[in-house]
Amino acid sequence: MHVAVIGFGNAGGKIADAILEFEADTGRSLCKDVLAVNSAEIDLSKPDRIPEDRRLLIGQTHERVKGRGVGADPELGAEVARRDLGEIDRALDTVPVYDVDAFLVVAGLGGGTGSGGAPVVSRHLREMYAEPVYGLGVLPSTDEGGRASLNAARSLQAFTDATDSLVLFDNDAWRQAGETLQGGYDHTNTELARRITTLLGAGAMDDSKVSETAMDASDINRTLSTDGVSTIAYASAELDRETKSGLLDQFRANGHAESDTDYAQKVHGLVRRAVNARLTCPADVASAERSLVVVSGPPEELSRKGLQHARQWLETQTDSVEVLAGDDPRENADQLSVAVLLSNVTDVPRVDALQERAVDAQERIEAEETARDDEVAELITDENDQLDPL
Ligand code: GDP
Repeated sequence: MHVAVIGFGNAGGKIADAILEFEADTGRSLCKDVLAVNSAEIDLSKPDRIPEDRRLLIGQTHERVKGRGVGADPELGAEVARRDLGEIDRALDTVPVYDVDAFLVVAGLGGGTGSGGAPVVSRHLREMYAEPVYGLGVLPSTDEGGRASLNAARSLQAFTDATDSLVLFDNDAWRQAGETLQGGYDHTNTELARRITTLLGAGAMDDSKVSETAMDASDINRTLSTDGVSTIAYASAELDRETKSGLLDQFRANGHAESDTDYAQKVHGLVRRAVNARLTCPADVASAERSLVVVSGPPEELSRKGLQHARQWLETQTDSVEVLAGDDPRENADQLSVAVLLSNVTDVPRVDALQERAVDAQERIEAEETARDDEVAELITDENDQLDPL
């Protein structure tokens, strides 16, 4: 499918950039347009691939912001986004909406600009356009502290409500031991881009051959139109194509060419591996309402029988008949890759834990504020309250 991507805030812009990079590296054409929106001028210089004229600074005239960001305050982030909706609209005027199957709004939920702004803009897009609006929301890692959890838990409610589906990515599950924060993010952003692009990039029908079992945009939209949260599974296998083409004739001569059954087993096995591997956000697969399998690779590897078996297997795993499976032929791909969308998952322990921490943080913040008010009053008032203030 083709999407217009809006990266909101620092994480949103970097992830949108990573999607552009992965798409260019693999010859896909998912993004019809990408817009980075931020209230901090400095963060708008971070992306490498997003064109300069597709970077929008909001809140420039806001007395508390002035191009310096909203300081991890999502209420301010939402206010700034609301105030500058006209500017965002103008920037989106150039989006070729007739050629776009959906909007994708990307944000990290633990900060301010993306956390507060992404739900505002998503709601607005839904009012303005007939195309579905999907969110891609990053949950903060536990060690970012209570404030980030509180921001994320509050944004999660608004963002889910404002979108047709919110795909979650959990920084906690993807944090790598021993990596610096930014090094870690570069790695996780690439992994996230790989998953989202393999999934949504199917059905773009660019220079790839259209197969009978090709996934199309309406299948993806149908699976995502659940109003809940989603997670993505992924696995890939390297194909040594050069060696293979060299050896193929030899194998064939000896009667050892890969059979239909080999191809089917490879596809089915990869789908199973994906679903049992780390999801973008850990969730109980059985709680998914709908799911969709995309198998991407060279046409000869895309076994229809393998897809059928994988679909049947996923039906039993999710205890649902709402499972679609299709392929995405890529003539020159050197990998066979599988992305599985698990839509409207309801058993997501990470979200429960986030909400618990958020409630705890909110209580602590309120208690600290009250205690501080008392301390300040005590400090500035004389001991027996004998003085009148001026
Ligand atoms: P904003 O600019 O105010 O929206 O805030 P940021 O995007 O800087 O941070 C919001 C949250 O996003 C943080 O709490 C982190 O959890 C997360 N985050 C920041 N940068 C990245 C990134 O490059 N990748 C990922 N996966 N998460 C990030």
